[in-house]
Amino acid sequence: MYNRNEIKEQLRKAMEFYSELGFEYLPVRNISTAGGHPPHGKETAGGHAGKDRGEELGSLRAATGECRRCRLSEGRRNIVFGEGSPEAGLMFIGEGPGRDEDIQGRPFVGDAGKLLTKLIAKMGMKREEVYIANIIKCRPPLNRNPREDEIAACLPFVEKQIEIINPRVIVCLGKVSAHALLGTDIPISRLRGNFLQYRGIPVMPTFHPAYLLRNPKDKWLTWDDMQKVLEKMKGG
Ligand code: SF4
Repeated sequence: MYNRNEIKEQLRKAMEFYSELGFEYLPVRNISTAGGHPPHGKETAGGHAGKDRGEELGSLRAATGECRRCRLSEGRRNIVFGEGSPEAGLMFIGEGPGRDEDIQGRPFVGDAGKLLTKLIAKMGMKREEVYIANIIKCRPPLNRNPREDEIAACLPFVEKQIEIINPRVIVCLGKVSAHALLGTDIPISRLRGNFLQYRGIPVMPTFHPAYLLRNPKDKWLTWDDMQKVLEKMKGG
């Protein structure tokens, strides 16, 4: 439990952040929905301050603007914000854009993206039915790993996307995503396969599709993880 001063400090930080993103109000959820996930495909009364999720994501994208919060803005062609259904029950979060994504401004459109799209289809869904985003929104030079300060600068965007979409399950693709969202440095080979929690939402860490392209023998492990995700989405 937070004490009064800690709550004030949390509120101050939240207001600073939202104001920086161009929001004129703090999006506050109806307390009656705070403990559970409202049915997707429907907006609950009082949720999202009267806006629908699509509008809120649009406002967030607009507020992101031509972000220059970190040095990755210098070499990017496009901010890769994320795409998919604002009502998605399942959210995939990767590391950051590569060359193809930077050119097209869309997440997971290169070879790794094609593998992810196949995986989603194998799970019985369409790509448009889930939401796909990354921890960082701009391509690092030569596809190097994002640095800690870059992750810290960009993390609020994906955190806000998660808050708006409020998925039933999140899949973290690769160690950068899992470490940033879950605040751990346990290797992905040990993290994967077990659910953890992000603000009450079950999170399944698994291998990044780019890793699976290099190590196809491990594809079955990711498929195993996705079976657990499907079970969880059914309420298991
Ligand atoms: S990586 Fe994120 S924080 Fe950095 S410039 Fe791009 S959008 Fe902004």
